[in-house]
Amino acid sequence: MLDSIEDKDDPFSDEQPSISLDENGFPKHSEFEDKHPNLVGENSSGSSKDGSFAAEFYRCGTDWSTLSSKEDGKCDSNKKMKQTNLFQMWGIKNRMDFDEENENVTRFGGNLGFHLNGSSSSFDNRVGGLNDSLDVVSSVVEKRKARPCPFYKKIPGTPFTVDAFRYGAIRGCSAYFLTHFHADHYGGLSKGWAHGRIYCTPITARLVRMCLYVNPSFICPLELDVEHQIDGVKVTFLEANHCPGAALIHLNLPDGQCFLHTGDFRACKPMQTYPLLVNKQVDILYLDTTYCNPKYRFPSKEEVISFVVRTTKACLKKQPRTLIIVGAYSIGKESVYIAISEALKVKIHANASRRRILQSFDWPHLSKNLCSDGKDTPLHVLPISSLRHETLKNYLKTYQNQFTSVLAFRPTGWTFSESIGNQLGLIKPNSKGNIQVYGVPYSEHSSFTELQDFVQFLKPKKIIATVNISNAASREKQQSYFRQWLNGRVLE
Ligand SMILES: [Zn+2]
Repeated sequence: MLDSIEDKDDPFSDEQPSISLDENGFPKHSEFEDKHPNLVGENSSGSSKDGSFAAEFYRCGTDWSTLSSKEDGKCDSNKKMKQTNLFQMWGIKNRMDFDEENENVTRFGGNLGFHLNGSSSSFDNRVGGLNDSLDVVSSVVEKRKARPCPFYKKIPGTPFTVDAFRYGAIRGCSAYFLTHFHADHYGGLSKGWAHGRIYCTPITARLVRMCLYVNPSFICPLELDVEHQIDGVKVTFLEANHCPGAALIHLNLPDGQCFLHTGDFRACKPMQTYPLLVNKQVDILYLDTTYCNPKYRFPSKEEVISFVVRTTKACLKKQPRTLIIVGAYSIGKESVYIAISEALKVKIHANASRRRILQSFDWPHLSKNLCSDGKDTPLHVLPISSLRHETLKNYLKTYQNQFTSVLAFRPTGWTFSESIGNQLGLIKPNSKGNIQVYGVPYSEHSSFTELQDFVQFLKPKKIIATVNISNAASREKQQSYFRQWLNGRVLE
């Protein structure tokens, strides 16, 4: 199946050793190297003197403050390090809690009773408990022994951290930034949060308050495209083209340094017109490298949406009593069902919990198109984890007076197949009886080519990958792509 990519490339599939961590959240090098000599990559041993950014970065990595100044003498070239399974370090035993597109709320949903058992009312009731369950999960995560915050979540030269809520109070941190409302980014936030101010966009702020019950006095919403002064740093949030409320964070430090943190993002041409990014030096780019591999050259969101709408119309022409189902995370993928809704001029049915979240976006065109009774529209949104044949068959039974078949779409970058590439017409549905499920490569993260385009546009001095960094080989591979994109220039 198309999803096999997910397992094939799983960077976390290996059993990870139990090792102690240093004060920055990385394994103590000597202990790790002793136990796992085969896992110590080039950039943490032999080639550490090759002067490449990767070598330098990971050599200096146990002290993040060295990233702000090469002259401060803190970079200890003897201090080799190696990073381990981040999920393990974060105390997440079951990696199925985390979706590979970093949109793990689905998996939380899957674990928290999203599964259907034939009755739409029981389904709605179960999902209605999502907010409570999320809160419980966050509390549990927070109550686990706080682990050290990895250096790459701390912004050098500032008292800021980004998406670092699961480490308890972080010494020296006065402002905790949250890039967007996906659980692998907000994990650790709960109503008991009292470690400091949380900066995020207004949509994310509403979700943090509504779903996690965080004390509003800690939540500081910042509008997009407006420069704010925070602890002497100029901070501007920019649209990240990821999920509603997701932001890139642009930081201008008093010493003139400029950093860009992408959070999760899908790079696109309009970003190359952002005034803060055009012909401006970026000293460090913190980059979402979810699909930083040349095999991920999936089509644009617009192309996928157009395919979904075409397929839906063709199906309805053949079988007018078809129920259209779009799988979605608790937030994300909205454009897919909004496009179908607009093309067919039908409303969108979602359960009460999802409607509440969608209404919080304050998008009038979406809010007015939501409907509470599934019988009133052929377009339904379900958790992406529930798009299984058996589940859909049971779901269809609850609407047997209205619909006779199901056409479902499962939108995620992980459904991308190299053999299909950009030829969406080659995608075949997974069909069983009167249920058809299409996996469509709709991603809210950048494809490899989009990452390349963005990096070549921005020309940052230094790039810190934030995803798939759990092993030296993967980190070095990413750095080699960065070097190629910047015409072989050795990154600082
Ligand atoms: Zn995300």
